[in-house]
Amino acid sequence: MTRRVVLIGHPVAHSLSGAMQQAAFDAAGIDARYELWDRAPLELSDAIAELRAEEFLGANVTIPHKEKTVPLVDKTTDEAHATGAVNTITKDGKRLIGHNTDVAGFTHALDALVGKQKMPRGAVVLGAGGGARAVVFGLVRAGFTRVIVFNRHLHRGEALVKFFGRSAAHMELRAMPWHESVLEAELSKAKVFVNATSVGLDPNDTPIPGELIPPDLLVLDLIYNPARTRLMREAEAAGCHVMNGEGMLLHQGAAAFELWTGKPAPLDLMREKLEEAIAAGGSTPADETPVADAPVADAPVADASAVAAGD
Ligand code: NDP
Repeated sequence: MTRRVVLIGHPVAHSLSGAMQQAAFDAAGIDARYELWDRAPLELSDAIAELRAEEFLGANVTIPHKEKTVPLVDKTTDEAHATGAVNTITKDGKRLIGHNTDVAGFTHALDALVGKQKMPRGAVVLGAGGGARAVVFGLVRAGFTRVIVFNRHLHRGEALVKFFGRSAAHMELRAMPWHESVLEAELSKAKVFVNATSVGLDPNDTPIPGELIPPDLLVLDLIYNPARTRLMREAEAAGCHVMNGEGMLLHQGAAAFELWTGKPAPLDLMREKLEEAIAAGGSTPADETPVADAPVADAPVADASAVAAGD
């Protein structure tokens, strides 16, 4: 029986995960098909319930469902519980186990960003969605002692801080209002700056004016398509070291593959397929990518190079 692994999101048509996961299944000789399921929020619970059938090996979950999936699975791992977000589902018989491999993905990206330097202690995070939760958890676990969260809607930033409450009691984790003067002051005190908003998918958009960015920051933009966002370009011009979200995407995907299959992920192949898919998407904003080039939702991902953007 061909097993099925699905990516549940809304939208999903432009996801890059299929490019690397299908290639990895094929290379490992696993008879499995990676499918894209576009499911609106009201359809999420039925989609998750469907996964209990034997043919399903598991699933990925993406925007905007990561947080809403938590109560729909039977068990969560420590990381999914701690972040309040699920991006990967595995099966134990009919039982569904929720994981968060974005944390592993972010940790790889953070280590690569910091390189041989001593792990810094202060960070500014833009965003308070599912991605930001993995980022904040990863920063807490890496020993950061001051993490400031800015979100367009302050209440969501405050909810994130409250959610981490006890696990961050030993440190300063705060949500602050999105005002340029406050952002500028906090960026000048931080060493690591992470964009976990979706602003920048369009290469002309950026979440904050470049003038606010001081030199010498380590900047990670979770966006990977375009491969160089305007934020990255402006931060680099200011003298910062910058990185996009490709490494995080690759490593969260590799961790998911290993959870579904119990086999080591073919990392080089997955990186190659991901880079091909990003190159095929180029710098086209996600919402302008020609639909004809994207895989059809509910269909297997046959041609990795046809996939363009988003996760
Ligand atoms: P969510 O939908 O959960 O959160 C979106 C975030 O973006 C919120 O904080 C939202 O703020 C903010 N935002 C959206 N529009 C604007 C705007 N116009 N101005 C300011 N803020 C805005 O998404 P995720 O957290 O799952 O994903 C966020 C980004 O991170 C996406 O681009 C995604 O592709 C990327 N990502 C990359 C990963 C990787 O592996 N590289 C992994 C996970 C995410 P508000 O709450 O105020 O609406």
